[in-house]
Amino acid sequence: MEWQAVMSTFVKIKPFLLDLFFPIECLGCGGENKWLCQRCQEKIKLKAIDECLVCKETTGLGKTHEPCRTKTFLDGVMVAAAWEDKLLQGAIHKYKYNFVTGLAEPLTDILIKKMNEPERVRLFEKRKIILVPVPLHKKRLNWRGFNQAELLTKKISSHFGWGIQPMLLLRQRYTKPQVKLKKEKRAQNIQGAFGIKPGQPETIKDALVILVDDVLTTGATMNECAKILKENGIKEVWGLALARG
Ligand SMILES: [Zn+2]
Ligand SMILES: [Zn+2]
Repeated sequence: MEWQAVMSTFVKIKPFLLDLFFPIECLGCGGENKWLCQRCQEKIKLKAIDECLVCKETTGLGKTHEPCRTKTFLDGVMVAAAWEDKLLQGAIHKYKYNFVTGLAEPLTDILIKKMNEPERVRLFEKRKIILVPVPLHKKRLNWRGFNQAELLTKKISSHFGWGIQPMLLLRQRYTKPQVKLKKEKRAQNIQGAFGIKPGQPETIKDALVILVDDVLTTGATMNECAKILKENGIKEVWGLALARG
């Protein structure tokens, strides 16, 4: 087998190897068999107040304020919990950088809890919703072995009966990881990184797209995704993330 083939096989089986050699214990209480047990997961509190992506001031349900709309393509963002929550922060880190895919489910449950808030349910009911995980570049996908945003999206889709289109957006350019850049450089770095899969039906324009990612920081990546979607006729685009780091 060629070296590249060996590497690619290793990347694919890496999550399983990790599960095999590292005992599973709850990040919160150390209990066995779960990375985040139900009780500890419930200790991660949902944010009581929704903030505008642009000005970070309070806004109903996370809707972008009217005057702030000139600075973003997103109609709103929903951030489930506070980044300051150390348990959540640890879980996200372990999920994303230690490849613990077993955390996808308890983390998704936090997103579902957020989306299940009664007022939010009212906002989204009767709408045709498509969930779109923020895509990773192939190179990063091969390194990690999974798209952390896509894994988070699957259970939301089945829970609410919403559509999911992981391939709607394409990452057409490799970019430096946003976390390694100063905040003011991020918008520039991500510019033009995405495209939309050609041949979309006209009906897609009526859909409300919810972009899903694990963490939101400046919102530059989600904003770039929203820009492409709006340029292609989609009228309403929201973002959903576990926390704003
Ligand atoms: Zn626990
Ligand atoms: Zn605002």
